[in-house]
Amino acid sequence: MDLILYNGTIYTQDKTKKAEAIAIKGECIHNLGSNEEILKLKTNKTALVDLKGSLAIPGFNDSHIHLSGTGLYLENINLSKTKSIKEIKEVVGEKAKTKKTGEIVFGRGWNQDNLAEKRLLNKTDLDEIATDKGIILYRVCGHIAVVNSYVLKQINPNLKIAGGNIDYEKGIFYENALELLSGLMPEVTVETIKDNLRRGISHANKLGLTSVQSDDFGDYKKVLSAYQELKQAGELTLRVYEQSLLPDINSLKAFIHDGYKTGVGDDYFKIGPLKLLLDGSLGAHTAALSIPYNDKPETKGILTYTDDVLNEIITYAAKHGMQIAIHGIGDRAIKQALDQIAKLDYQGARHSIIHLQITDEEIIARLKALHTLALVQPIFLDYDHKIVEKRVGTKLASTSYRLKTLLDKGIKIGLGTDSPVETLDPIKNLYLATSGKDLDGNPIYNPNEVISLEEAVFNYTYGSSYASFTEEYKGLLKPGYLADITVLDKDIFNIDKNDLLHTKVRYTIVGGQIVYQK
Ligand SMILES: [Zn+2]
Repeated sequence: MDLILYNGTIYTQDKTKKAEAIAIKGECIHNLGSNEEILKLKTNKTALVDLKGSLAIPGFNDSHIHLSGTGLYLENINLSKTKSIKEIKEVVGEKAKTKKTGEIVFGRGWNQDNLAEKRLLNKTDLDEIATDKGIILYRVCGHIAVVNSYVLKQINPNLKIAGGNIDYEKGIFYENALELLSGLMPEVTVETIKDNLRRGISHANKLGLTSVQSDDFGDYKKVLSAYQELKQAGELTLRVYEQSLLPDINSLKAFIHDGYKTGVGDDYFKIGPLKLLLDGSLGAHTAALSIPYNDKPETKGILTYTDDVLNEIITYAAKHGMQIAIHGIGDRAIKQALDQIAKLDYQGARHSIIHLQITDEEIIARLKALHTLALVQPIFLDYDHKIVEKRVGTKLASTSYRLKTLLDKGIKIGLGTDSPVETLDPIKNLYLATSGKDLDGNPIYNPNEVISLEEAVFNYTYGSSYASFTEEYKGLLKPGYLADITVLDKDIFNIDKNDLLHTKVRYTIVGGQIVYQK
């Protein structure tokens, strides 16, 4: 035996089976049982881990994130907790010291309302930090950024920008003018993608994740090379199912022509579904609704594809062995997706709608009839519960974010976070799914849609595995299953609900290897 975990509470999700210890051989679980039974399997080559009463559960599997985006987000300085311009100068100054002349420091999250000085940052503030390298700091909203002179010098002062402007005096960029700054981003290379992935992987392991379903493509060849190189170097300590964003028929055809389709790869990196984005977001009034926005009646949001174009892409993808995962937030986008999925011959391909926020009874019934999965993010409610009624009105809001209803109707779901849009932390996500409260303790608007912790964990592990065709060997703690295990410092099924948020990860184990421990 290679590894034995003992003295724990083992939550197997294997209905009748209770255990205190797990024996692991190679990548897989060999057996589970009492301490006595399992410790008998020990040899002089066995590594032993005393769980000291901790809870072992199947490893978390996030059904939708952006792993390289998460790594990039971690690299940028987070200023959301800063309390003064003086403090911002210190924090950014520390980071600037690590950069070479000519490189750019990115930061985000500042908010003048929280700063002692109660004013916007300006160019003079940032020039006091550095003038030989660039500094770009985005306000918390993402609609304003302040830059130093080094950056400003690289911008043509005679440019006219539709839908945006630049205050050259203060070094502040507004709205569409921000696009000029994205041109200053460093070139995306296989090396920079690898760096972002490395940060994302270690962050994920630390939070108890053993698998993710991740949308990373820009240039897919570079992304695939980055993953292959990390895997060969033994750095891919997280299993990845790539939600392959190929937004038009030509990029899809090139991808298929290169020999890719759903399932190509191995249990560390595998091509997942074709990912398509059909609409925008609720916050920005760009999610496609069937009715005008309640708080912006001149718009019903934006559909990205015509029915014909979408049909061409989806039909081609399905014919060439691609599972399909569609980003749909508004009910109009979700119905457009279901109309197209309904036209495909084979309904057992585990196609999914990612997000599925604004829904009605018809959508729920059609999901069920079409065997379409829902990859949902309970953590979205932390913010969305404050705006959903405002945006879509009370009637449509009352049939939206229907976690419990989806389960009751027998629709398969996988839980996720959409990190870095929201925190990657599974514990916070479980809290939003099960507590009926947001992270500040305020009640969320639709408490009837709360699910049990058992249901939430099941759909964060086995449920997500189902979405990636791996439920026969991943997502339960059972002999023959992959030894992907998360160990928590508390038995979350037997604590006060409010203590859930104080739960910490003690070990993360992927394929029998301890990839994180505290
Ligand atoms: Zn996303």
